[in-house]
Amino acid sequence: MNRYLSLLIFATLFFLGCQKDQQGPMRTKGNDAFALYENHFLEELWKLNPDWATTVGYHKYDSLLVVPDDKSRDAMENFTKVQKDSLARYQAGDLTDLNRMDYQLMQNQMEYIDWQLSVLKDYQWNPTRYNPFGAFATILNEHYAPLPKRLRNFYQKMANIPAYYKEAQKQIKNPVPELVTLAIQQQTGGANILEKDFADSLKKSNIPAAEQKLMTDRAKLAAQSVRTYITFLQTIKNDKPRSFRLGKQLYEDKFKYEMQTVYGAQQLFNMANERKKQIHRDMAKLSRQLWPKYFGKKAIPSDSLDMIADVLDTLSAKHTTAADLQSTIEKQLPILSNFVRAKDLLTLDPSKPLEVRKSPAYFGNAAVASMSPPGPYDKNGNSYFNIISLKGLSPEKAESYLREYNNYTLQILCIHEAIPGHYVQLIYANKSPSLIKSIFGSGAMVEGWAVYGEQMMLDNGYEDSPEMKLMWYKWHLRSVCNTLLDYDVHANNMTKEQAIKLLTHEAFQQQAEAEGKWVRVSVSSVQLDSYFDGYKEIMDLRDAYKIKMGDKYRLKEFNEKFLSYGNAPVRLIRTAMLGKQTN
Ligand code: ZN
Ligand code: ZN
Repeated sequence: MNRYLSLLIFATLFFLGCQKDQQGPMRTKGNDAFALYENHFLEELWKLNPDWATTVGYHKYDSLLVVPDDKSRDAMENFTKVQKDSLARYQAGDLTDLNRMDYQLMQNQMEYIDWQLSVLKDYQWNPTRYNPFGAFATILNEHYAPLPKRLRNFYQKMANIPAYYKEAQKQIKNPVPELVTLAIQQQTGGANILEKDFADSLKKSNIPAAEQKLMTDRAKLAAQSVRTYITFLQTIKNDKPRSFRLGKQLYEDKFKYEMQTVYGAQQLFNMANERKKQIHRDMAKLSRQLWPKYFGKKAIPSDSLDMIADVLDTLSAKHTTAADLQSTIEKQLPILSNFVRAKDLLTLDPSKPLEVRKSPAYFGNAAVASMSPPGPYDKNGNSYFNIISLKGLSPEKAESYLREYNNYTLQILCIHEAIPGHYVQLIYANKSPSLIKSIFGSGAMVEGWAVYGEQMMLDNGYEDSPEMKLMWYKWHLRSVCNTLLDYDVHANNMTKEQAIKLLTHEAFQQQAEAEGKWVRVSVSSVQLDSYFDGYKEIMDLRDAYKIKMGDKYRLKEFNEKFLSYGNAPVRLIRTAMLGKQTN
């Protein structure tokens, strides 16, 4: 209470101070000036980061590849300094809610980049940082311009590849072994893009043969540089390799910049633990209720987690076939739309259709399903629901996927990816025309909304059965345990054995899924928090909003208002929806 009061007083004084400043040289600039400044800011950002620009759909700098030397980092540091000065000329309080969110996102992003360059310094220990292939693959595979034009840009961009990899070898000092392994895999795929995929596309183009020859020669040279880098990574001497674990301090910092949440990392971890216990209690209740229906008089296992696992295992046998996977999903989508309309959960925009398609080959087989929304610079483009093909897999592997995406969880997958999850959220986001929110947007808001959407559908009676509820809990435990795992591994030294036990025994995952998650947590950090963090923030915000609105509260109004701010961090949406005093 005291702390809150002193904060309030401080805020008041600060505010008065700002008002006085308006007379001085630090004049406030308005919303129009801010919009112009945003464009200028992005243009400068893209000039320094052409790869990033290409992957978000800004193609002016496609032909450029920046060599990752000290000079390029200095240029980036200078950029953040200049932009922080420019931002300081605006007063957040004078901007509209939406512009103020952009302002805070830009400020956070500048501080995050500074922190990466001066504190994290992962250019010295993370060899996966040196990977231009997202940009190269985009140029080759996305049809935003005629093929010859894209191929010529590709060709020009390759000119710096030898210098690029020479510099990468110079920068890497003490790499993390797990990241070395991942980098080798990625670079091997990259060499393929430069040589094979590029040559395949050239054959389909009308570029003259003599020019094609120049292009394939350069591609060979470029691929050779990549292979030299691979050899360097395979043979690097590393007696005391850096641990893949981030450690508590770096973790807290990264969490702050990336999650931009009201919670601290440790606090979120504690909340996830509580959530896990509560879910286990509810799952045990549901499993006990379902036991006689599926197991008759068979004795119930004494360990309640074993009992839950048995029921889940039995329910997972109800699933579609590899051949019918795509059509099952296609049939599911209108059922979800109709439910959302019937329950008046939010307004759907029928003018933006969702197309279900096979995952493009260059996506790889990492995820069974994913969403490809239109990019920030292509708001009227199509939305795709990508599904990998199970037809090429061994029968055992296909069966394991089908059990995981069984008749229950396949519906939850469609809710999460499409309606009212990612697809619907991104349509709303595109109606609030902010490039900044699309580019620096909050992953926790995006993932949190999809997880929140699952629960909202079930809470409103979608497929109301104990089976569905139980399966959703299993699905939901994945989000919760992602947070537990990430923090425990990076900040608390959790071992692989403990991690696998958590995921298989307490989150009911298959061994292969758990092993895959261990790999993911050893080459990434903080991102795995976004699902539970966003979910928890949205649930808390809705509770507070209910209290604020009293008997005027409507779920539909909350959902639409929440989505109207685009991909802003929930913390900032919270301030806008509740008013400053409650944050
Ligand atoms: Zn089966
Ligand atoms: Zn998602």
